[in-house]
Amino acid sequence: MSENANKKKRGHAIALFSGGLDSALAILLMLKQDIEVTALTFMTHFGCDLGDRSSCGTDPYPASEKFGFNVKLMHLGQKFVDIVESPKFGRGGHMNVCIDCRILMLNEAKACMEMTNADFIITGEVLGQRPFSQQKDKMHLVLRETGLKGKLLRPLSAKLLRATEPELSGMVDREMLESINGRSRKRQMELATEHGLEDYPNPGGGCLLTDEGYSNRLKDLLAHSDRLSFEDLNLLRVGRHFRLDPATKVVVGRNEKENNLLMGYRRDHHCLLEAPDIGSPLTLLIGNTSEGNIEKAAMITARYTSARLEPKVCVVSTRVSDDRVTELTVTPARDEDLKLVAVR
Ligand code: SF4
Repeated sequence: MSENANKKKRGHAIALFSGGLDSALAILLMLKQDIEVTALTFMTHFGCDLGDRSSCGTDPYPASEKFGFNVKLMHLGQKFVDIVESPKFGRGGHMNVCIDCRILMLNEAKACMEMTNADFIITGEVLGQRPFSQQKDKMHLVLRETGLKGKLLRPLSAKLLRATEPELSGMVDREMLESINGRSRKRQMELATEHGLEDYPNPGGGCLLTDEGYSNRLKDLLAHSDRLSFEDLNLLRVGRHFRLDPATKVVVGRNEKENNLLMGYRRDHHCLLEAPDIGSPLTLLIGNTSEGNIEKAAMITARYTSARLEPKVCVVSTRVSDDRVTELTVTPARDEDLKLVAVR
C-alpha cells in the first residue's frame, strides 16, 4: 500500500492476527471504517508450523493480500518458553497459559504500536467464547497488566464493553462494531459472507499446549529438566515417548516421516535403535545409555516392528558418538509393561 494511500486513512490499528475467522473479521471491521491495519502473526514453539501446509498453521498472507493489510510474522521464542515454564496467571485445562500468552502478545503489539505511532490495538476476542481467557474479568486483568486501557479495541464484542479511545474520539464508529457474546459462531458466519471472507479455517482449539498428549509430554519434560531447550520442546512433537528413569527417555517414530525427523534429532550422547530387515520404527535412546537401558529400548522398539508377535526380535543399537553397534535379540515389550513407562 502506498504512503499516500495511508495518509487518507482515519487511523492506524495494530491487530493480533492468528489467521482464524475472528481475528480476520476484527480486521475487516476496521478496514471497512477506513482504518489502516498492521497485523501481527505470532509464532511460538507450541504452535502450528506456518511453513508446513499439512499442519494446522494458517497462512496469513492470502487474506492480507485479498483485503489489503500488512502482516508481520513475529517469533516469541524464549519469551514464550519463559511463561510456559512459570506462568504468572496459571494454566487452563492443560498446559495452556492463555492469560500470560495474551499479555505477552499484547505487550509486543503495544511496543509495535508505539514504534509505528499507531493509534490503538485490536483483537478478534469474543466475550465469553473461551472459558479461561475471554471472560470479562480476565479481559480487565489483561488490560491492567498491559496498561492498554482505552487502547485495546475488541471489534466483535465492542458494544458490550466500555468504549475505547478511538471510539470516544470518533476515529472509529462504535455503531458499526459488533456485540457478539458466547460460543455460537452464527454472527461470525454472517459477517464472513457479508465481507466476502470465504476461505477460513475451522475454529481451532488453540495451540499444542491445549492438547492432552502434548501437555503430558511437556509436564514430564518439565519434571525432569532444569530448563526447557528449544530442541527438547521440538522433540515433544515427534513420536511415542517413554520415560525409563529421571535421566532417560525413549522416543519411537510412528511413521517414516517421524523416523526421518528423529534422525535429525540424534546427538552424540544418544543411541539409535532399529530392527533390520523388517518393518521397524527408528528409536532414539536419550540420557543414560547403559546396557540395561539399551535392552529396554530394544524391547520397546521390537514391540512396534512388524514382528511384534514373534517371541524374539533382533534389534541393532548404534551409539551415535562412535558408531559402536550392539546387536540384541529381545522379547517385544508387552503392552501392560509399556503402560508403566509411556508418557501420554
Ligand atoms: S491456546 Fe495457546 S496460543 Fe492460544 S491463547 Fe492459549 S496459550 Fe496462547
